[in-house]
Amino acid sequence: MHASPIDEASDIVRAARRLLVLTGAGISAESGIAPFRGKGGIWARYDPMEYGTLDALRADPAKVWRMLYDLGLEIAAARPNAAHHALVRLEPHLHLTIATQNVDALHQRAGSTDVVELHGSSQELLCMACGRRWAAADVVVDALELPPRCGCGGALRPDVVLFGELLPPGVFERAEVAARTADVVLVVGTSAEVAPAAWLPTIALRAGARIIELNPETTWLTTEVTHVFLHGKAGEILPELVAAVIHD
Ligand code: NAD
Ligand code: ZN
Repeated sequence: MHASPIDEASDIVRAARRLLVLTGAGISAESGIAPFRGKGGIWARYDPMEYGTLDALRADPAKVWRMLYDLGLEIAAARPNAAHHALVRLEPHLHLTIATQNVDALHQRAGSTDVVELHGSSQELLCMACGRRWAAADVVVDALELPPRCGCGGALRPDVVLFGELLPPGVFERAEVAARTADVVLVVGTSAEVAPAAWLPTIALRAGARIIELNPETTWLTTEVTHVFLHGKAGEILPELVAAVIHD
């Protein structure tokens, strides 16, 4: 008898005590936020390597803010999808940590409680001159007057990690501890091209974890690191997986 990949994955998750879920932009794709890789979306207009870097922000904040403004519109219109909700349902059944590369806060909005935001959050802005923090909800961002400014006159930036920037202190370390101690890592919707987040599955593998990967496309992890590959969309496969874990 050959079990289906979902059966195999649900057996593995059911036997786990500590689960780390590593998520990327793909888990939010069905919420209407375009991932970098894949067709269309705002990234057809804004090359992340041109607009998403610290150098670009320093050199021309207004330019980078055009991309941030469009991404902000997508995030503001987005709601958690079936994949985010499925992870919330799993929480009472095992020790679950989510390490996300996303800045959209959709895991928290769905109700997940242990979320490590590896790349910061679009929900907070930071003054590049005086360092003051602002809740994004309290700042009116006018597309015709970018960048938005602090009371001190300095340019604001979202508290997200741009290409060329280090992760906030302590954040990767928290995820790394979760990776080293996890029995199972579930990797959802990431191309695993952005370091150091992309190292987490390998760190867990070396510490003895089983690795499950969910993606409509294979990645370099699929052949190098993954034990069970679930082929498909997060919003369809994750609810199925969680139902199989919980109900028997
Ligand atoms: P990525 O764009 O490099 O890769 C997205 C992955 O998701 C791809 O492998 C793709 O095949 C997969 N995918 C597409 N649709 C999917 C679906 N319905 N279900 C499951 N998987 C799906 O994203 P990344 O690996 O996260 O790296 C890009 C960086 O930019 C990260 O820091 C990322 O979080 C950030 N970013 C964040 C957002 C957001 O906050 N939602 C959006 C765009 C980019
Ligand atoms: Zn300021």
